[in-house]
Amino acid sequence: KKFVVGLTGGIASGKTTVANLFAEYGIDLVDADVIAREVVSIGSDGLKAIAQRFGQSLLLTDGSLDRAALRAQVFNNPEQRLWLNNLLHPMIRQKMLDQVQASTSAYVIMVVPLLFENHLDSLVDTTLVVDIAPELQISRTMQRDGVSKQQVEHILASQMTREQRLAQADNIIDNQGEYELLRSQVLALHQQYLQLTADQET
Ligand code: ATP
Repeated sequence: KKFVVGLTGGIASGKTTVANLFAEYGIDLVDADVIAREVVSIGSDGLKAIAQRFGQSLLLTDGSLDRAALRAQVFNNPEQRLWLNNLLHPMIRQKMLDQVQASTSAYVIMVVPLLFENHLDSLVDTTLVVDIAPELQISRTMQRDGVSKQQVEHILASQMTREQRLAQADNIIDNQGEYELLRSQVLALHQQYLQLTADQET
């Protein structure tokens, strides 16, 4: 059985940056955000089911999903939201497991922003949290996305708190310092995971 590391962290904590460092060591990545887009891509069963329930008005002229229109449909509508989650979550989960099975690297990094919130930690063998203080989350998001402080605070409020996340972490990466400090932490963890993978095989 493939050893799976669940990589998570709040907005702009550095998940993508960390995942790319693991990829440099040849480790395959399974990205929940990418898969969540794939299950509603043009021609997908997910998109067909959504168009059937909500109507063709949820499609853009090129046939792709109008995400804003879908958000409006499920906003303040728990019944529709539940239907949508019941449709998409099993599809996303299955696709993630398929990609893990298809991987040929020593272990797999599964990048899941809402790993704990959506209870996807049940799919992984160990959890790795990228940690930075909320003030840094705010400044890095504002800089990267050109959004206001208020907009970031709104997103922060929708995610679990730093303390809740850290309490569930098997390992923690501190990404408040220089990039080089990040690199050395990732290398140490990579070696640790290779060891765990080897232990699992014997
Ligand atoms: P999101 O949750 O929004 O998808 P993320 O957790 O994947 O974000 P990244 O995109 O990797 O986070 O990083 C957020 C921003 O912070 C990026 O602009 C990135 O370049 C920057 N960043 C990451 N690590 C550092 C660091 N150690 N020092 C300075 N900036 C950093």
